[in-house]
Amino acid sequence: MTQVVIVGYGMAGARCAAELARFGVKAKVLGAEPHRAYNRILLSNLLAGKTDEAGVELPDAVEDVRPGTRVVAIARAERAVHCEDGEVVSYDHLILATGADAWVPPIEGLPEALPDRVAVFRTLDDARRIVALAGSARTALVLGGGLLGLEAARGLATRGLDVHVVHPVGHLMERQIDPDASGILAGTLSGLGITVHTGVSADRYAETPEGVGLCLSDGRTITAGLLVIACGVRPNVDLARGAGLNVERGIVVDDRLRTSDRHISAIGDCAQHRGQVGGLVAPAWAQASVVARVLSGEEPLAAYHPTPVVTRLKASGIDLASMGSLAEEPGHEDLRFADPARGTYARLRIRDDRVTGAVLLGDNPSVGQVIQLFDRGDAVPADRRALLLGRALGGAATAQAAPTPALMPDLTTVCQCNNVSKGAIVSAWRDGHRDTPAIAARTRATTGCGTCTDAVCGISDWLSASEGARG
Ligand SMILES: Cc1cc2nc3c(=O)[nH]c(=O)nc-3n(C[C@H](O)[C@H](O)[C@H](O)COP(=O)(O)OP(=O)(O)OC[C@H]3O[C@@H](n4cnc5c(N)ncnc54)[C@H](O)[C@@H]3O)c2cc1C
Repeated sequence: MTQVVIVGYGMAGARCAAELARFGVKAKVLGAEPHRAYNRILLSNLLAGKTDEAGVELPDAVEDVRPGTRVVAIARAERAVHCEDGEVVSYDHLILATGADAWVPPIEGLPEALPDRVAVFRTLDDARRIVALAGSARTALVLGGGLLGLEAARGLATRGLDVHVVHPVGHLMERQIDPDASGILAGTLSGLGITVHTGVSADRYAETPEGVGLCLSDGRTITAGLLVIACGVRPNVDLARGAGLNVERGIVVDDRLRTSDRHISAIGDCAQHRGQVGGLVAPAWAQASVVARVLSGEEPLAAYHPTPVVTRLKASGIDLASMGSLAEEPGHEDLRFADPARGTYARLRIRDDRVTGAVLLGDNPSVGQVIQLFDRGDAVPADRRALLLGRALGGAATAQAAPTPALMPDLTTVCQCNNVSKGAIVSAWRDGHRDTPAIAARTRATTGCGTCTDAVCGISDWLSASEGARG
């Protein structure tokens, strides 16, 4: 029997082992972290106190797993991996799911071994550490105003800390939103106890009576009880590079996720597919499924096709969705609405009647509809203003695209992380999986970032109501 070995017991590795098991293929999983795999995405909720450690467990059960085992080398000629504890494990096929590590920028005065009151935010142990530090601090500094930095900041503010976010770029979340949206978001954050400093870099780190301090490029120094560094991640490629595999920013893979060695695949945040490295769970899980189908022989020619990505900020009190590209290109309609006093901003970029990019911040009733149009590449309604403002929509085209459960087409993707359609949820419900946990167990919807939970409940309530009405 083919021996499949997976290096990395994170979100991609755990899912891949579970998918292989579904097809009757056993895999041995070697993971550096000392505990069972968990839902890394939900660490933001853990930090905010919205869930406990039990709430971040992954449902995927993996039989043959060795947590606390770091692989230090791949001997390709022998088809074996060497573990830190000296053990050698042979493979017929190896899957690298080594993820990414938090990146710490060089800052004068900041030692490589991070001081006690400084943490990155990537692992369960990091989250535990930040929560412990927050318990004895009144103020926090977050370096990095991207998605992760803002989720960390919101979590710390929820715990009652005054938070300062320092972001070297001119506006927040520059990969997902534009400067106008950033200005409004900064206003919303300010109301939640988070002060934002954009366009300033951290020149020097210093220990202070309060704990930590950052000297900024504009001459100011900000001090706090703890510092969280959220400056992005770097794919974990050392093993692959050491083994002579083709590595650029990530481990280069083809459409079947094979590396430059046909006995080795790579998936998740460590992989680079068609020039793109990961960073989100939906592609990691889609790749895990492709590798399982190929290796099990279930679908030997299965291929990974990237799908459009919608990003949502998971921070209570802030609704923010962003998708596609906001780059200024000719031939686009560019529609915007801003209401800074109410923390609302909507921007749609449309080309040939299709949504190519959007930012929706604050109270935007059309968010579900815009995501749906973007996701499916459907034509936008003629009444652009109604779509932008999410006002009561008229006309067949708009009504058809409205996101109420009854009118949602069956092909609409409800759970982005697991690519679950409304049709799959309806089938699960009709097969007797009637509440959200049962639907989740059957379809995996809601088990990623969890932002589709209301939509899944809505569909199940609508089906129950329809059945009740029929008597
Ligand atoms: C706080 C937070 C919030 C996030 N929110 C979202 C979100 O809302 N939506 C979204 O799509 N994504 C989000 N992400 C990103 C998402 O978590 C990652 O895309 C996902 O975890 C990638 O899965 P992975 O298995 O490739 O990597 P990881 O989950 O990082 O797993 C890799 C594993 O490999 C192990 N490993 C590495 N090297 C070795 C080795 N040599 N030997 C053995 N084991 C090794 C690591 O210890 C780790 O356990 C978030 C991330 C964080 C940290």
